[in-house]
Amino acid sequence: MPHKTKKLYEGKAKVVYETDDPDKLILVFKDTATAFDGVKKAELKGKGALNNTISSLIFEILHKSGIKTHYIEKLSDTEMLVWKAERFLVEVVVRNVAAGSVVKRLGFKEGDRFEKPLLEFFYKNDELHDPLVCDAHIELMKLAPMEALPLMRDTALKVNEVLSQFFQEHGIILVDFKLEFGRLPDGSIGIVDEISPDSMRLWDARTGEKLDKDRFRFDLGDLLEGYRKILKQIF
Ligand code: UDP
Repeated sequence: MPHKTKKLYEGKAKVVYETDDPDKLILVFKDTATAFDGVKKAELKGKGALNNTISSLIFEILHKSGIKTHYIEKLSDTEMLVWKAERFLVEVVVRNVAAGSVVKRLGFKEGDRFEKPLLEFFYKNDELHDPLVCDAHIELMKLAPMEALPLMRDTALKVNEVLSQFFQEHGIILVDFKLEFGRLPDGSIGIVDEISPDSMRLWDARTGEKLDKDRFRFDLGDLLEGYRKILKQIF
């Protein structure tokens, strides 16, 4: 069993530790909920465990579909063992249904289903509020290796197919989600970070109820009740 050696970094939702294996890290999921680039913040007991459980389950589903990620195993309620990666500075968002920034930015109506999935890149930078970027920005600002972009696009769309179908089978609509990528120790490119209701929009297919972090962003109801509903429906 690998154990934590040194704290490497503390983010908004997770603490990252080095381990006795230089190629592996331990992520500890915190009970902190944040929104609007950290401006809104709360401690919600049990959130870390819920996100670790849901994220681990999703990574296992992706592995079964041959999608490469940094995930190795779930170590405990709040701890995940992952491969150490050099993270790229972009976030990849895939959308099936209009919500969030695409409604504000482009005037779509929330709930409109897109003819085909919409894929966007954002620059990971809280101070600049994660602006939308195109390939030319990514190249100029060296936000990710250009040769990795086709693989990131293909992988994100494949993840969308796999997860849309998975959630649909469990009565949930996958509205949109965010992925991050990086270079893994073997030199390949894989998905890093978490894939949880903090980084996805999930709506109950029957009632339309929002089950994800929008509950916290817009005070729509108890956040963890939503996350527990997701877990109950998918497990
Ligand atoms: N998202 C995320 N981290 C970010 C920005 C967005 O995980 O820094 C997720 C968000 O939860 C949603 C999707 O990416 O599932 C699309 O987010 P959007 O661009 O609509 O931004 P928002 O208005 O939610 O900040």
